[in-house]
Amino acid sequence: MPRITDTIAALATPNGTAALAVLRVSGPDTQALGTGIAGSPLLPRRTRHADYRARNGDVLDDVLFTFYRGPKSYTGEDTLEISSHGNPFIAQKILEDLFARGCRPAQPGEFTERAFLNGRIDLSQAEAVMDLIHARSDRALAAANKQLRGALGRQLKVMVDSLLDVLARIEAYIDFPDEDLPSEDRAGVILELQALVSHTYRLLSTSQYGAILRDGIKTVIIGEPNAGKSSLLNRLIGRDRALVSPEPGTTRDFIEERIIIGPHCLRIIDTAGLNPTPAPLERLGMDQTLDRVTEADLFLVVHDATLPAAPLPDPVARKLRKENTVLVFNKIDLKESRNPPLPPSDMCALAVSALTGEGIGELTAAIVRLADGFQQNLGSEVIAINARHANALIEARQGLQDGTDKLKAGESSELVASDLRSALNAFGSITGRIDNEQMLDRLFASFCIGK
Ligand code: GDP
Repeated sequence: MPRITDTIAALATPNGTAALAVLRVSGPDTQALGTGIAGSPLLPRRTRHADYRARNGDVLDDVLFTFYRGPKSYTGEDTLEISSHGNPFIAQKILEDLFARGCRPAQPGEFTERAFLNGRIDLSQAEAVMDLIHARSDRALAAANKQLRGALGRQLKVMVDSLLDVLARIEAYIDFPDEDLPSEDRAGVILELQALVSHTYRLLSTSQYGAILRDGIKTVIIGEPNAGKSSLLNRLIGRDRALVSPEPGTTRDFIEERIIIGPHCLRIIDTAGLNPTPAPLERLGMDQTLDRVTEADLFLVVHDATLPAAPLPDPVARKLRKENTVLVFNKIDLKESRNPPLPPSDMCALAVSALTGEGIGELTAAIVRLADGFQQNLGSEVIAINARHANALIEARQGLQDGTDKLKAGESSELVASDLRSALNAFGSITGRIDNEQMLDRLFASFCIGK
């Protein structure tokens, strides 16, 4: 048996029956291992069609071997991909043979972790791999691809470069306690730090869009009991999921469905009706509705077009804006005029029939328009940070703010530098790519220029 140092193997396709299964091997012994199995040397980036022969000589399958020589591989190490027939039993036999040959089972995410450790990708790109795997909509896919190609890393690089610049100027005074940053320099540094704080805010403002992309747009259907909310949900998801009943107040539990509308993924929540005079059990449902409403991204407010529209409870009404709301006048099939006059509003208002499907195309188009508006652009890049990035950015912003305050108060360069260094580390934790060498290079350059 060859001595395997740290070569890992795993099934790279989900378990279950598919046309093909892909097994991945990565590590220093990959080439020798592959050559042993295929019977003759494998050439980098060439695909070889051959039998997979187990250690006991049994042919397990007719497979394709593709060898990648490090560092030009996903992990940065020598890697081998074995495409077998998609029978999970075959994939399992191959995997067991690889383990018998000395590979060890890969931990979850270990191939991507190695890619990061070997400098092939930064941490935000590693996270983008996860986002890609879990993307449920065109928009989520596009944002994950941008991040995988380094969109967030590029923004951070700009910020880190300018912070390093500032820090270098301040650190230059630490060794000379008798001298202090001249006031004109101080003003310039404060301006730069303020620009960094606002850039941090802009990045942070993409976090809601990030949650939307990763979890779906949280959409609530609200309105009076019997307005047709459940019928509308069923119409949008195209099957009978919600209980539809002519009795008011039948939807007491929340019904949640993910649906794809155009390029967006919606988490659509059908809520208990907002009855102005609820029964006790209904009251409970309404309180929960109000809680849900406060967290929603998008609101579909359903009215029965044959009845006068009842006012919505204040906490709900306060949340509605033209950027996040569609007013849906339902049951137009019961109206004589197909285009009943809709009450004036700056919000998008549409007449539909959940029963016949009339107006539903316009409704989905309106939803797509609003959802498009949630997208955040930072220059030419679409960026949507995740919760980890948001925490790091909040920490960085705090460091920048504290440093600025200390500069303004005339505190020592050493204290200012310590705050800015903590901001730098927080930025660095997003990509995992700040190291002292970078810092030292910058510092050295600044010493040469001046003092
Ligand atoms: P919810 O309480 O708001 O969820 O309302 P439901 O979806 O349970 O609907 C209440 C009643 O209105 C049911 O009898 C539905 O069949 C009926 N309904 C819903 N939408 C329409 C519609 O567009 N046209 C007509 N004619 N009836 C509808």
